[in-house]
Amino acid sequence: MKKAIIIRYCEIHLKGKNRGFFEKLLRENIKKSLKGLDFTFTAMHSRYLVEDFNDCDLQIIKEKLSKIAGIHTYSEALVVNNDLNEITNAVLSLCDNKSGTFKVETNRADKTFSPNSMETSMLLGGRLLEVYPSKLKVDVKKPSFTVYVDIREDGKSFIYTDVIHTLSGMPVGSAGKGLLLISGGIDSPVAGYMTCKRGMKIDCLHFHSYPYTGQAAKEKVVELTRRVGEYNGGINLYVVSFTKIQEEIHKKCPEEYMITMMRRFMIRIAERLALKLEDQAIITGESLGQVASQTIESITSSNSVVTMPVLRPLIMFDKNDIIDISRKIDTYETSILPYEDCCTVFLPEFPAIKPNLEKVIKAESVLDIEGLIEEAMSNIEVIKL
Ligand code: ATP
Ligand code: MG
Repeated sequence: MKKAIIIRYCEIHLKGKNRGFFEKLLRENIKKSLKGLDFTFTAMHSRYLVEDFNDCDLQIIKEKLSKIAGIHTYSEALVVNNDLNEITNAVLSLCDNKSGTFKVETNRADKTFSPNSMETSMLLGGRLLEVYPSKLKVDVKKPSFTVYVDIREDGKSFIYTDVIHTLSGMPVGSAGKGLLLISGGIDSPVAGYMTCKRGMKIDCLHFHSYPYTGQAAKEKVVELTRRVGEYNGGINLYVVSFTKIQEEIHKKCPEEYMITMMRRFMIRIAERLALKLEDQAIITGESLGQVASQTIESITSSNSVVTMPVLRPLIMFDKNDIIDISRKIDTYETSILPYEDCCTVFLPEFPAIKPNLEKVIKAESVLDIEGLIEEAMSNIEVIKL
């Protein structure tokens, strides 16, 4: 029997006159994600249909769809002609491995189809009870599963039982572009995923401190970026060496401001790169109060060196909630691999928890800020993932 995947979207409905723009973007994102596979793709009344694929690709297609922002749900359906016999056979075969309580829900868009939807549901339910008397029972109020029968105007009927909830959110690219500061930690990949989910396409920037941080630490970040990229339709990682800047701060500034100053440099460089890449925002994985560099005073200090918006999707999230998401998107196991991050190099014993902005600016003035930024910017490695 022929199979199809029915894709549904949700929030796009709310977008009024811009709806066409969102729908087009979602269509393109789906097609791009499935590129290289055999399939046909059609739009059908606020839904999309993926058909004519090879059975062996079904699992891959489902995995890819589960990572596309803007898709609300999908169902794997059997497709038959609008013919009661064919529909009955499809329903029976779909329920062959099912047991428990059920109901049949028919939607009859093809008004030439007889019997009507209520009668069709009753007929199909009766047939199921006849064929599987010992394992199926009707419960129209709280069934353990529902058999959906969608009889379309164009002569095709879709039969399915499962509605899989996926990412939701908005199509990637519908909310502009941003630059994610990605470390090897748990938080920033989650922040990246959440940004993609809301429709902002991202580039990634990572600072490494070779030779203080090694090749394995960088590869870990590459792997995390690649995983976030699955929600972004591919991704570019920009790697900047932070070593010289850290050494200069370490040599010339009070130890307690090490992290404060590092963060100010990171954000400055991020803004420069973002402007070059035409990114409209900087994104970080900061969460209020999680560590010394994430107090409101520290955030004020790093925020004050740029004018571009700095988005912090996790700002009010508890660590446990962040970990739950990182497990869901499969970055957690990689994030906890024990490699050094540039932020753990030169870590002071007592970092300033509430840095005073005036004092920070004064202490920083001994550095050649512009020269250091330019030097860091002059040698950026680009990794396309
Ligand atoms: P994460 O789990 O994302 O590493 P964290 O809890 O370790 O976050 P910090 O080390 O204070 O917190 O970093 C805060 C944010 O700064 C990170 O979420 C990330 O956006 C950015 N950041 C930290 N280190 C780097 C780095 N080496 N390269 C790029 N961005 C970084
Ligand atoms: Mg970190």
